[in-house]
Amino acid sequence: MSYRIPEGCIYCGNCEEECPNDAVYEGDDKFEIDPEKCTECVGFFDVPQCAATCSVEIPEPDPDHQETKEQLLEKFKKLHPDKEPVLF
Ligand code: SF4
Repeated sequence: MSYRIPEGCIYCGNCEEECPNDAVYEGDDKFEIDPEKCTECVGFFDVPQCAATCSVEIPEPDPDHQETKEQLLEKFKKLHPDKEPVLF
């Protein structure tokens, strides 16, 4: 499942800096997450870094982009074919 950034974003930019997949980008009035790149940080960290570092703690699972851990791991491998995933 991809994460998403709902209304309430204060544009601090922590999520963009911390995302290991470059999935976060600047939207019109808040940051956005590309569901094609978000792995919930699977392969890198045990918790989603955008949610862990957000100043207002708002990134949340996106119910419109549900995936299993196996699917997220496959996405990691496609995004980073030369990297070994860190498994938790
Ligand atoms: Fe990036 Fe991880 Fe947040 Fe997804 S959950 S947008 S991969 S920091």
